[in-house]
Amino acid sequence: LPSKLPNVGTTIFTVMSKLAQEHKAINLGQGFPDFNASPDIIQLVTKAMQDGYNQYAPMPGTIELREQIAIKTERMYGYAPNPDTEITVTSGATEALYAAISAIVSPGDEVIVLEPCYDSYVPAIELNGGIPVYVSLSSDDFSINFSQLQSAITSRTRAIIINTPHNPTGTTLTQKDLQFLAILLRDRNIYLISDEVYEHIIFDGQQHQSVLRHAELRERSFVISSFGKTYHVTGWKLGYCIAPRELSTEFRKVHQYLTFSSFTPLQIALAEYLRNPEPYESLPQFYQQKRDFFVNLMQQTRFSLLPSRGSYFVLASYGHITDESDTDYAIRLTKEIGVATIPLSVFYSNKTDNKLLRFCFAKKEETLERAVERLMKI
Ligand code: PMP
Ligand code: GLN
Repeated sequence: LPSKLPNVGTTIFTVMSKLAQEHKAINLGQGFPDFNASPDIIQLVTKAMQDGYNQYAPMPGTIELREQIAIKTERMYGYAPNPDTEITVTSGATEALYAAISAIVSPGDEVIVLEPCYDSYVPAIELNGGIPVYVSLSSDDFSINFSQLQSAITSRTRAIIINTPHNPTGTTLTQKDLQFLAILLRDRNIYLISDEVYEHIIFDGQQHQSVLRHAELRERSFVISSFGKTYHVTGWKLGYCIAPRELSTEFRKVHQYLTFSSFTPLQIALAEYLRNPEPYESLPQFYQQKRDFFVNLMQQTRFSLLPSRGSYFVLASYGHITDESDTDYAIRLTKEIGVATIPLSVFYSNKTDNKLLRFCFAKKEETLERAVERLMKI
């Protein structure tokens, strides 16, 4: 069978999680918390099921959940999207990314991705006949080089995908970045897909620069988030997309036939749970503490950590320890030291190896301590 995705194999997240299991390694690779969600939210989901909310939800999501998303968005970013026409609930951010790309990309269209980037963007572009155009983030601090971005734009450019806070590097976009982007896109017929799944995981007093804060960019954007990250429930796969009416209409056409609607009990429960802003408003502090705890411990090892300003990831440089490729080293660390990570090269189209590993610190303190004890042996 001729493959539609000849270059796609098993994702590195699956590969490293499996290897970690086989070798009983501590898994700081695939991004997910090893602690449980709040008992309150679990109770609300249980109650929703017991109350009989077990049939199809409305195609765009329950209106109660969309209303609460609108309230949260206004509270955070000063903009209230219309729940009827501008918010669609999806089965995770992965579905939302796919639906947004599918809604706008036709065969031959170019979509600019900034590398390193999350692994679902490119296959989604390719499945829709689009052509990914790669622009590398700066190798020093992973910021956007706007002159390179500008040079990558052609008459075929249909969209640009951005992600802040950024997986895998832990960097964040600034207000200036969004202003540059707005100037670059002005008078151009280019959409923006903004992956903001780590919107509430941002450190050192920074404000998350949501595209939704920016009126000019908002007009051309699909803004995507995920409850998995915000409420420590990555396995629930519930997310959403906020986009202007016309874009949402096209987005919903895809969503309608991709999944039709998403898991009803979660929507009932989350509409209730979202009424209290405390859990998401305290998330920056919660994860900053974990980041600081892990970064401090790692000072006892030979790794050099790069700054993490958001997300639950931090990069570690090891070029001064060994010449091994990042993939070989990640595999060896899993097997011999008992700590699994993700090699950064997998997030590049040409597998650029900068001798960097990605660590996930969304873990209990004792997990991070045990991992660092092992890493100190290097
Ligand atoms: N985008 C980024 C940057 C992510 O890290 C993830 C989660 N791994 C997703 C999208 C997908 O989110 P979800 O699990 O809600 O599909
Ligand atoms: N987003 C997670 C990460 O970056 C992985 C999600 C997945 O396994 N597909 O680690």
